[in-house]
Amino acid sequence: MNTIAKTPFCTEEQLKTLIETLNYCAKNSPFYHNKIKQVDTTFSLEDYKKLPFTSKEDLSAHNADFCCVAKNEIAEYVTTSGTTGSPISLYLTKNDLHRLAKNEKDSLSLMGHTSDDLFQLLTTIDKQFMAGIAYFLGVQELEAGMIRLGPGVPKLQWESILKYEPTALIAVPSFIVTLIDYAKENNIDFNKSSIQSIVCIGEPIRNDDLTYNILGKRITDNWNVKIYSTYASTEMGAAFSECTAQKGCHLNDDLLFLEVIKEDGTEAMHGESGEIIVTTLGVEGTPLIRYKTGDIAKIYRDKCSCGNKTPRLGPIIGRKNQMIKFKGTTLYPKAIFDALEEFDSISCYKVLIEKNELGNDEIIILLEDKFKTHSQLDAIKNRCREKLRVLPQFQFMEANKLRGLVYKKHMRKPEKIKFM
Ligand SMILES: [Zn+2]
Repeated sequence: MNTIAKTPFCTEEQLKTLIETLNYCAKNSPFYHNKIKQVDTTFSLEDYKKLPFTSKEDLSAHNADFCCVAKNEIAEYVTTSGTTGSPISLYLTKNDLHRLAKNEKDSLSLMGHTSDDLFQLLTTIDKQFMAGIAYFLGVQELEAGMIRLGPGVPKLQWESILKYEPTALIAVPSFIVTLIDYAKENNIDFNKSSIQSIVCIGEPIRNDDLTYNILGKRITDNWNVKIYSTYASTEMGAAFSECTAQKGCHLNDDLLFLEVIKEDGTEAMHGESGEIIVTTLGVEGTPLIRYKTGDIAKIYRDKCSCGNKTPRLGPIIGRKNQMIKFKGTTLYPKAIFDALEEFDSISCYKVLIEKNELGNDEIIILLEDKFKTHSQLDAIKNRCREKLRVLPQFQFMEANKLRGLVYKKHMRKPEKIKFM
């Protein structure tokens, strides 16, 4: 029997919620009011596919028009991290905060976490960021415990781990590499620590074939912990999460309606890649219809051994608006990151993309100044040339200054690339 689900994945329950969402937007959203008509129960998936897309540009240009509630109903104002374009505001009601809590509870449970877990949170919880507050609320919903330590400062992270004995960390995976390095330098026996699992946010830890990528390997080769991928964005207000089978990140079909659409406009089949497009379900403050995330990933629609029937996404291969045109080739930033992350000696780097006078992109790789005379510099250059087929420029910078450019206080993720 063919167990590949129909596309897009849609249960009866989901179609019902989808209809409610469309009618809610048609009634309450100044942006969608003229674009979406009220629909009835005869509404089908075919009708859905005729609805207009919402782009990041729409959301940015008409930001306040996306808010569906009166000001006194807004419980939280959050913003996107602004890795591309200017930050976008999202307006959340009290129920939207409950939705966030449910999302993270579901996500953490799918990974096998329970109320017995104690989480150490290594992300920012203020600065209008959604991830930190979402994890805090989700852990409370799970009835587990939390230590809100926030980002950076490996010394404090280890002191807290040794003192409170948390079982799980919630962190950007590249910072885990820094934690491991610090533990090694300071004789901390991290394999005997209380940590059993790490919830990785913001960066992929797997290759397209779902094996660990270099970052994933750098963690698991050193540290006997389970690491779990997630894929989320502020606009979605929900996360795709790995289950214990670790075969891609599951859709939470209570909270999102998913399409993965190929370059030619058709739906991606099992194992194919395309742009992730979502409609948020059950959102009151800032619901989005057929929102184009710009993120490209593979979709897996076969049955998962964990029993969850929802489709899964592979790691993000690239962003639609981050394609680099470089000396006759096109590439995504991830190819550059992968080449650099093969080298254990590189713990921090930043890639700058500048347009030259011909309108083509120039790639500049910033490394710590120790690499100016480092024995591995030639090997790094050769690996970049092999992997990218062309050689970018290398520049060097004082280690702390470079770290400051990458781990910015107000950013949720390390800023590994900047389009100038
Ligand atoms: Zn699964």
